[in-house]
Amino acid sequence: MHNLFISCEHASNLVPEQLRTILEKKVQLLRSHRSYDQGALDAAERIAEATGATLIHGKYTRLAVDLNRSEKNPQRFSRYSRQLDSEVLELLEKKFYIPYRNDIKTSITEIVQKKSSVLHLSIHSFTPVLDGVKRDADIGLLYDPSRIDERLFASRMKTELARIAPELKVRYNYPYRGISDGITTWLRKHFTGDEYAGLEIEFNQRLLGNIPGWNTCLQNFIAALGKVQEIEPGIDT
Ligand SMILES: [Zn+2]
Repeated sequence: MHNLFISCEHASNLVPEQLRTILEKKVQLLRSHRSYDQGALDAAERIAEATGATLIHGKYTRLAVDLNRSEKNPQRFSRYSRQLDSEVLELLEKKFYIPYRNDIKTSITEIVQKKSSVLHLSIHSFTPVLDGVKRDADIGLLYDPSRIDERLFASRMKTELARIAPELKVRYNYPYRGISDGITTWLRKHFTGDEYAGLEIEFNQRLLGNIPGWNTCLQNFIAALGKVQEIEPGIDT
């Protein structure tokens, strides 16, 4: 059985002191999807609590430094943080970015060293409409199609969710591709397919507009995950 591990990169819209002057009046921006993933921390906490999995989550807005972008990606700094001096950017990286990613890598390494494999769920949410285009899914399951266990977990989650909650529209590698720049893509470079399966889970923020519906969605997601975890990976059913 895979050991479950949960992360949430865009959990918070808290502004670190280095950006306070630049962002203090931008209330609307801070409340928007550009600042954090609404509902994602709630989902991550409930999944971790229900399953007993370890959860590591970001503490500050992605507008400071985006934990879900690689260190080679200049886009990890927003146009707001790029107004800061390079020394301050280095400090943001040292204080928030490097420790976060190291913590995650260390936790996964510890599980792998115990000869267990890891199922990592990186929990996110997406805005229902982007640039005027309505997004057509409730939940996105993002994975690398070349990794067998990830493909199996994604297809089993989709099958279970269709059984438990047929009203939910679940799509693969939507609204982004699982192999795009992100924490799971970075971890795949460090761990083999036998050691590590990483799925990014994307919830549509539209679900948050209806709290009973959101609660039910999470309950169903957790129930489906429980079923999927009972099956040994690598055995096709
Ligand atoms: Zn996100």
